[in-house]
This record gives sequence, C-alpha cells and structure tokens, in this order.
Amino acid sequence: MTLPVTLADIQAAAARIAPHIHKTDMQADTEVPDMIVKCEYRQKTGAFKLRGATNAILSLPAQRRGHGVITASTGNHGRAMAHAAKSLGVPAVVCLSRLVPENKVDAIRELGAEVRIIGASQDDAMAEVARAVATDGMIDIPPFDDRAIVAGQGTLGLEIVKQCPEMNAILIPLSGGGLAAGLAIVIKALRPDARIIGVTMENGAAMAASLRAGHPVDVTESVSLADSLGGGIGLQNKVTFPICAALLDQVILVTEAEIARAIRHLDRQGHRIEGAAAVGHAAVLAGKFHPTGPTVTVLSGGNIDPALHARIMAGANAAETA
Ligand SMILES: *Cc1c(COP(=O)(O)O)cnc(C)c1O
Repeated sequence: MTLPVTLADIQAAAARIAPHIHKTDMQADTEVPDMIVKCEYRQKTGAFKLRGATNAILSLPAQRRGHGVITASTGNHGRAMAHAAKSLGVPAVVCLSRLVPENKVDAIRELGAEVRIIGASQDDAMAEVARAVATDGMIDIPPFDDRAIVAGQGTLGLEIVKQCPEMNAILIPLSGGGLAAGLAIVIKALRPDARIIGVTMENGAAMAASLRAGHPVDVTESVSLADSLGGGIGLQNKVTFPICAALLDQVILVTEAEIARAIRHLDRQGHRIEGAAAVGHAAVLAGKFHPTGPTVTVLSGGNIDPALHARIMAGANAAETA
C-alpha cells in the first residue's frame, strides 16, 4: 500500500523549513534508565507545530500566498500559523469565539495575526473560516490532516534519528496524528526495527478509538491535562488515519494522574512542559511501557497555563481545580 506522505516528502520539507525553525536538542533522563527526551517544547512558539505550518505555507504557490491564511485554532496550531505567516510575510487571520480568554487572544495578536472575534462558539469561528475561504480566497491551513503538515512534523523524526541513531522505541503524543504519522514514516524507513508507540489520554482520544474501530469515529470530548490532545480526527480523514493505522505498532492510554506525575518528574529533570508532552513519560512511569533499550519520548510542547502548572507541582492530579 502506498501512503500519502513519503520519506522524500519529509526530506524536502526539512530543506524548505530549515532557515525558519530551531533544531532542538535531546537529553537523557537522569533518573529513568534508557529514557531520552526530545526537547521540542523549546521550538519557537513552544511546540513542534511550527514545522508543519511553515512547510504548509511555503508549499503554497507564490500567487496563492497573497490571499492569506486562516484558521480557527486557538491552541499551538493557531500560534504556529500566526508566527509562520508573519515571518514569511503572508497575511494571517485567526478566528476566535467571544469565549476565548483575553490572554489567548492577546498572545495570538502578539504573534502578528489579525484576530477576528466571531460569535459565541468554536462552530461560529469555523463558519467564518469557511466563509473567508469561499468568498475571499483565503487558505485554510489544517492542523493535521494534510500532506504538507505531516511532512513538516516528520522533520522532527529526521532530527531524532540523527541525534539518537541507537533508538529502539519511540513514544509519541497522539491526537489528530500529524506528529505520529510524520515521525512513523521516517522511523519505519530509517530505523525499521524500532517500535513506534502512540500515547494519548484515556478519555476523549479520537485517534485511539478510530484505530480500534478501523475507521474514523467521533468521541465525546472531556477536560484533560493534555488539552492539546483534544478534538476529533475528522470523519473524512484522508491522511493521518491511514498512516497511523499502517505504521503505529501500539497505542497506550494514560490517566490524568499518570500525566500529572510525569509533568512533575520532567520538571525535576529541568523540562517545563504541557500535559500533552508528558504522555510518553507517563506511560513509562506507570509501567505501561517497559523500555528494553534507548527509548525516545517527544516533549512536544511547553504551553501550559502557569497557574495550572503550579497546581500540578503542588500535587494536583487533574485539570479541574481541586
Ligand atoms: C498538537 C499537539 C500534539 C498532537 O499532535 P497531532 O499531530 O494532533 O497528533 C501533541 N502535543 C502538543 C504539544 C501539541 O500541540
């Protein structure tokens, strides 16, 4: 079976985005043998999503870029798109509902995007995206289900294989699957013996449920410390579902308390990260994955609300205030 993204696509993306992104380092865990972390939370904008967004914008034909790019994402994808668009001189619009907190609105404005406040729900914001695409010719940059996005996220895998050629397993945070799909293509090609494991939260994990069902399914969303792992995969998913179905060896689910424990552990190791980035370590610390050789976890992002981080460090084991 041919997959929608190839190693050559990812190598081309790496050359394309190199001037615009940081290479991030890897460090051994000093407490847990065989564990090595990829410090991608130190990427510009605080998450790997800058790789995909930059590649997606650079892959647009020059005459289309002038129409500008648009998204309704308030999370790491929205931040990445705003930053990438600004640094490439492309107009960017982020559509938000009135419910999005002021500090998030300001953060996106500071990254250089026009913020459009539309309606009282995420659906209203998404309707404005659809309108701007249909009427103004703006280009919707999707968060994961897109060949250029997957190729961009895969560039992280090229760095990992180079920095840690002896790896024998990798634990990857899994939501829409853009990150896992990109990494899996690289690692299956260059380190075919390494195990590739997606890790996500127990409640509301759409890709895990879809892989079990054998086709994309919707799940009920719930509040999680791993807020960047929420959301569906799209019932019409075309790119990330088939790649994850073909290449992931296993999916592990972790609880909120396991995520909180991993955030505390990684903080002691000098890594201040968000919940989504802690799931790989959470699986190991909980005994749900047993390393049998150099095992990489991807610290995918660091954008955690400081008040929440403080509560977790003080012992909280859930997203809601105790
Ligand atoms: C988006 C995101 C993920 C999940 O990536 P997908 O490509 O949606 O699977 C993991 N960690 C962080 C920090 C993210 O922002």
